[in-house]
Amino acid sequence: FSERGDQIAAVIVESCPANMGVVPPEPGFNAAIRRLTTEHGALMITDEVLTGFRCSPSGFWGLQQQAGEDFAPDIFTFGKVIGGGMPLAALGGRAEVMDLLAPTGPVYQAGTLSGNPLATVAGVKTLQLADAGVYQRLDARSEKWRSELVSALDAAGVTYRLQNAGNLFSVFLGVDSPVRNYDNAKSQNAEAYTAFFHAMLDAGVNLPPSCFEAWFLSDAHDDEAFEVFRAALPRAAQAAAQVISA
Ligand SMILES: *Cc1c(COP(=O)(O)O)cnc(C)c1O
Repeated sequence: FSERGDQIAAVIVESCPANMGVVPPEPGFNAAIRRLTTEHGALMITDEVLTGFRCSPSGFWGLQQQAGEDFAPDIFTFGKVIGGGMPLAALGGRAEVMDLLAPTGPVYQAGTLSGNPLATVAGVKTLQLADAGVYQRLDARSEKWRSELVSALDAAGVTYRLQNAGNLFSVFLGVDSPVRNYDNAKSQNAEAYTAFFHAMLDAGVNLPPSCFEAWFLSDAHDDEAFEVFRAALPRAAQAAAQVISA
């Protein structure tokens, strides 16, 4: 911004990066982007496609608000949860910016499936069903699943870093310091994760297939599912430990 501030139209950020594993921004990071963009007349676009309606009813932004970081981007983008399993995406923001979109404003926006009735109905219904109880259960479950994961990795002597954004989490194997950026994320032991993944799969647990993917729990992950997960962990943790020590 100090070099090209007047040429920058917008800054787009994942509210909480979660496509390289879960890498929550440092406190104040997003608020600083807000300050800079405001200062230079650029828009701030916050991508909550993955975190929206998942980390909290108001996404990762909501968690930041709860932590006392009071700022708002100009535009939010959504996908995934908002469609209730159907293909749907959405954006929203300040009226002044949204009013630039057609039919109110001059910026044309359209797509074959824009506002698709089936997807919007599924999305609305999902958001209606996602009441406070769902989020409480998800948060509590995530904590329980994470602590079981931690116990198994500790017992097998695996070094790891577990990071979360509310109920969203991921584990970096073979890393023992905070993962703050993509370089840190790439320093994890991907082969250890492959061994871990396959041991879990053999025991009936289908984890994210990549160590750069976040782990998602849903309201369907009940006690029975947890028992399958818990029972599968020790062998998988040992498989990871073997790769790391090899
Ligand atoms: C999945 C994802 C997208 C892509 O969303 P589409 O609706 O599939 O285009 C964009 N941003 C983030 C952070 C995502 O996780």
